[in-house]
Amino acid sequence: MNHLFFIFFSLFSCLSNAMESSDQTFLIDLVNLNSSSHSIEGCDRVRQRISQEAKKLGLNVRTFELQEKRKILMIEAQDAQPEILFIGHVDTVFSKDSSFQKATLLKEKIKGPGVIDMKSGIVLMFSILKKLSPQNRKKVRILLNDDEELGSFISQKKLRELSRGIPYGLVFEPGLADGSFVQSHSGVFWFEVDVKGKAAHAGNHPERGVNACLQLSQWIQEIQKLENPKKKLTINVGKIEGGNQTNVVCENAKAFFDLRYVDPRDLESFKKQLHITLKTKTVFSDKKESVSVQWRHLVSIHSMPSSASEKIVSVAKKLAKKNHFDFRATHVGYASDANHLSTLGISLLVGVGPYGGHMHHSEEFMKISSYDSRLKFVTALVQKLLF
Ligand SMILES: [Zn+2]
Repeated sequence: MNHLFFIFFSLFSCLSNAMESSDQTFLIDLVNLNSSSHSIEGCDRVRQRISQEAKKLGLNVRTFELQEKRKILMIEAQDAQPEILFIGHVDTVFSKDSSFQKATLLKEKIKGPGVIDMKSGIVLMFSILKKLSPQNRKKVRILLNDDEELGSFISQKKLRELSRGIPYGLVFEPGLADGSFVQSHSGVFWFEVDVKGKAAHAGNHPERGVNACLQLSQWIQEIQKLENPKKKLTINVGKIEGGNQTNVVCENAKAFFDLRYVDPRDLESFKKQLHITLKTKTVFSDKKESVSVQWRHLVSIHSMPSSASEKIVSVAKKLAKKNHFDFRATHVGYASDANHLSTLGISLLVGVGPYGGHMHHSEEFMKISSYDSRLKFVTALVQKLLF
């Protein structure tokens, strides 16, 4: 048995199988504090409770104030030299007036708002820190924002700044229902297509008009043809607007699209194709001069390709094999804060947190056994990465 294996073996065998009561209390406290993304006061209360826990461990807590009273909490040891990030968020999707407010402890699960997304992830960060040697504790930086459920549009810049130069990042979002980790995220690209036609009386002189609603419906079909599910490039037309009155030939119409992709090169080639399609395809009218079609980009979130997680995934696979652990990592179509960090050259792994089911729903729950298995595996993974 080599030295390294001995450390892991001891670590796996000495941990108990149940969630420690102090961890459970910390988790229930956090779940019972409403921290909807829209409630800064609620997020502040959660931050206070987290800071108490950090201080118990002798860690320093720094708060970065951002626009619109948003904040990032940075927690690390005195004289830290971070080599690994623990990333998370304090906000949840449950509003202050939602009927789902409190944690319920059941036999094998804990139910509660945000219990997996991601208050148990935050508790897990501290449980892992407690298992680390003082020397390794200095190599961890915890970053918690409060607008993740809104897309981290305010916090992402600061998040990147505080992450730059740190080689590893673990994102404590929940694992998938079967315990899988997340190795890649789709990117998101929202755009709008506007069609301008010509109004006319629908009864008197319909031939004088050019119907933008009808034109748009044709353009949507053309754009949809650019989808490439094999490459995980999907297009959803989620919203259509157009026209004013039933008896007027529709003058203006627009459609809003959600595009998901993995490889940024596929997005670039889509944009070129879209441009060419809108320029060169025949307008579906014989009055071309009266029709204009334009597109504009609305929102984009960079994808996290699997190359960003390759390094940690390979370490995790070897570790799992050695310790007879079931490690699986997969792709998901939604985004997390890992998307915002994926261009910094940080090796990332997502879905590190405990898991359960019904995320973002009034039945959200965490499997208690998942806490224990994540604690064992992720602690060992952190030790291995920092070795
Ligand atoms: Zn989350």
